[in-house]
This record gives sequence, structure tokens and C-alpha cells, in this order.
Amino acid sequence: MPQCPTCQTLHTVKNGHIHTGKQRFLCKQCGYQFVENPTNKTIDAETRAGIARAA
Ligand SMILES: [Zn+2]
Repeated sequence: MPQCPTCQTLHTVKNGHIHTGKQRFLCKQCGYQFVENPTNKTIDAETRAGIARAA
């Protein structure tokens, strides 16, 4: 399991997926929800379309 970005514990569990299909995790220690390896460097067409629609 990945390390929690806020409290640095390794006590994290899988917690479903975000809309892009990436694995989401939940920190069992502080309750923070996060996505492993969040990245903005490769925005796919679907994401770009969503941003354009929201703007
Ligand atoms: Zn935490």
C-alpha cells in the first residue's frame, strides 16, 4: 500500500477508484483519501474534454 501523503503512515487501504479509473486509497490513520501517483503531465482526451466543458 502507498504511503499517506499527509501523515506518512503505510496504514492505507484501497478505497475504490476515481472517475479516471485510477486507484483511490484511504488512510486508516488520519482518514485522508488520496490517489497514488497523481499526475497532470499526461492529460488524456477525455479529461481535456471535461475541463473544456467545465470552463
Ligand atoms: Zn494519513
